[in-house]
Amino acid sequence: MKPLPPGSVIGILGGGQLGRMLGSAAARLGFDVHILAPEDSPPAARIAAVYWQAAYDDESALREFADACDVITYEFENIPVSSVEYLVSIGSVVRPGAASLEKSQDRLAEKQFLNAIGIETGAYEPVSSPDDLATALNTLGGAGILKTRRDGYDGKGQVRLKTGDDLAAAFADIGKVPAILEAYVPFEREISVVIARASDGTVTAFDPSMNDHAGGVLRTSIAPCGLSEPVIAKARSMAETLARETGHVGVLALELFVLEDGTLLANEFAPRVHNSGHWTPEGCLTGQFEQHIRAVAGWPLGPVTRVFDVEMQNLLGEEALAPADSYGADAVITLYGKRDAKPGRKMGHVVRRTSIRALS
Ligand code: ADP
Ligand code: MG
Repeated sequence: MKPLPPGSVIGILGGGQLGRMLGSAAARLGFDVHILAPEDSPPAARIAAVYWQAAYDDESALREFADACDVITYEFENIPVSSVEYLVSIGSVVRPGAASLEKSQDRLAEKQFLNAIGIETGAYEPVSSPDDLATALNTLGGAGILKTRRDGYDGKGQVRLKTGDDLAAAFADIGKVPAILEAYVPFEREISVVIARASDGTVTAFDPSMNDHAGGVLRTSIAPCGLSEPVIAKARSMAETLARETGHVGVLALELFVLEDGTLLANEFAPRVHNSGHWTPEGCLTGQFEQHIRAVAGWPLGPVTRVFDVEMQNLLGEEALAPADSYGADAVITLYGKRDAKPGRKMGHVVRRTSIRALS
């Protein structure tokens, strides 16, 4: 596919804040944005040229949407793989394709795939019954985190367990669905690498950020991440392997646990722009949203040189209702336009540029 000229239409499956920020970046590059999602007036719909309200598996809606779009991408990793396959079967260009989507939707397949391409993870065991769970807990040394294989996000669908806990109740808690038990990783810190791969195979990785979670939800991301150059180089090369091996076109994010001795273990990856990359538009010459749009439009990637040290803080629930001046004059505020500030819901974020870096 030739680079899309400005004025072309970029279709995005998914209507959340990631779609809203991708759509804004696309509009700034001269594209029209069409959003398809099932909700009533979601955040991305309200900045789009056209909103298609439809179920992700509504083939007649997908066909009309496809007719209107020059390229289609997604902002949500739980889009049915069959919908992407349908779009491809009727001649649409979907970037990234089904491969990275499929692997990231199932925690077991994801970890097996990472291991198969030489990316180390913590230990894990598949679980599909309380009996399996008892065996797995033994194998993993008596403690671990039970996670649903599918549909988990922001720490949902997870239970921490140790020997002696009521395993049947824990399995019931996650809905008695196929799951994995992960060994608890005693990490020193968590980092992520957000990387983009262009349609010609070129890759650019942002500096890794250090990420802090509370209750499974990201609170802050800080760059630089404070690790040594060899560890950072290793993290980037893991993300590069992943992007190449999935044939990914667009942005993806690899979450990593860092052990005391600098060992990196992959936690999971997202085949899309990522919350831990929300500092990149303010911190780097090109941000993750523009980079993703460049990749899916077949444009050359932009430079990802980081020009500031930054701290990104998520605004959860009512935190986002604070008056704009209360964040301080140095805060760059992004609000997602969500109507209902439910407790813990990601409503926006602020980025603070803590110092400026010399361009070398
Ligand atoms: P989600 O899809 O909800 O982001 P994650 O698997 O990334 O799920 O879990 C959310 C957070 O919970 C992680 O960022 C980490 O802080 C913690 N966590 C998850 N799995 C483990 C583990 N095996 N060991 C230690 N901490 C973990
Ligand atoms: Mg995660």
